[in-house]
Amino acid sequence: MTDCLFCKIVSGDVPAKIVRETGRTLAFRDINPQAPTHVLVIPRDHHPTAAELAVADPSLLGEVVSEAHQVALDEGVAEPGYRIVFNTGPQAGQTVFHVHAHVLGGRGLNWPPG
Ligand code: IMP
Repeated sequence: MTDCLFCKIVSGDVPAKIVRETGRTLAFRDINPQAPTHVLVIPRDHHPTAAELAVADPSLLGEVVSEAHQVALDEGVAEPGYRIVFNTGPQAGQTVFHVHAHVLGGRGLNWPPG
């Protein structure tokens, strides 16, 4: 999609600090980190939400989650734990409608979230 920020990161039109990539996914540092590790994992293909990706291409959603775990391992936050978040819809705080997994770690994370 031409007006999608994360599609522009995939195409290279918008710069990003890329930490991992596969043929179907990209992982890059969040521009406004909320934890010592805050990385976004996206599919290269445009799907608005995790729920829509689950219907359209469940194996790709699985790859996004698997890559999120690899990011946590690479960043050294897999132990004692980290969080994967898919904000879904505006009330949940989704602002970019290209599905992305937030990988948050490196500090204690409160529950319930705000
Ligand atoms: P959402 O609020 O769940 O949709 O998450 C969108 C995330 O994208 C936010 O955490 C933003 O800080 C992040 N973000 C926005 N623009 C950029 C960018 O250009 N590069 C990296 N992260 C971005």
